[in-house]
Amino acid sequence: MSRYSTRWMIGWFGGAVSAMPILNYKDLIWTVDVTPKYDDLIGSYVVAGSEHVAVVDPGTRNGLPKLLSWLDDRGFKPSYIVVTHIHLDHGGGACELAKRYNAKVFVHPRGGKHLINPSKLWTASKTVLGVVAEEYGEPSPCREEDVVLTNDGETLELGGLTLKFVHTPGHASHHQSIFVPEEGVLFSGDSAGVILEDKQGVPRIIPTTPPPFKPDAYLESLEKMARLNPQVIGPTHYGLYSDAAALLRRHMKQTRIWVDTALEYVNSGRDDIKGFIKLMAEREEDARFYASSFNEIVKMSFVYATVMGMLDYAKRVLSGS
Ligand SMILES: [Zn+2]
Repeated sequence: MSRYSTRWMIGWFGGAVSAMPILNYKDLIWTVDVTPKYDDLIGSYVVAGSEHVAVVDPGTRNGLPKLLSWLDDRGFKPSYIVVTHIHLDHGGGACELAKRYNAKVFVHPRGGKHLINPSKLWTASKTVLGVVAEEYGEPSPCREEDVVLTNDGETLELGGLTLKFVHTPGHASHHQSIFVPEEGVLFSGDSAGVILEDKQGVPRIIPTTPPPFKPDAYLESLEKMARLNPQVIGPTHYGLYSDAAALLRRHMKQTRIWVDTALEYVNSGRDDIKGFIKLMAEREEDARFYASSFNEIVKMSFVYATVMGMLDYAKRVLSGS
């Protein structure tokens, strides 16, 4: 039992709250905090097989020092780096990390070219994220020979643990989630929302739906992940939570409420972001949590981008475009 972290034990034995973040899962999988400037918002996952160590979502380029010192402390030298998608907070540090360890980077086929030449990605990120992009840092390019494009359902063996690539478009067309079948652990990147704990330790979820948001693809990907029947989920933002399948089902319901509310809101002639957040907070408990009391990085990167995607989708539907 000593191999389990204290927080896991509280979650396991406490009973009252079924899902608690786990930072160390059985000394096989760890959440490493790689948030630049703040703490506990961007997680990188280290998966240690008997033959290879893999890093899933190394995070931003400016967050790399946190990851490198964690890896150095344990003497881990990753052979594989996997990005759920290329956005700066997930894959921004991937290429630099790959060069350091002579590791391969596994990415959805639609994302590969942006790792090799990140200039368009960097320009788009500055437009969408503003000052937060500078806090994350400009990604360095990957060497072409280091980039491996994944097929849906393909696997990578680490020795006793397997990484299965599951293509999950919706948040981005080039998104993939990673499933470890031996342990029932799913790394969902941004395909199943942000999950952060509130002060009482209750996991709170908000969709991750920046423009151009495609609800059908997002919901289909949630179904696809739920069919894997995962036990533990690691959304990059943030940690590992038990009761994964239940959290995915809850997130499907929530996302439908967000989409219906966006359609109703735009249909009534409104489109301001703050008004929509207020309305969502009246209708949905988790939205209430995200609407209140957060630092700017959460608001800029998660809440505003999500609302913009929802409203943009509603406008497209209602204008018939
Ligand atoms: Zn993200």
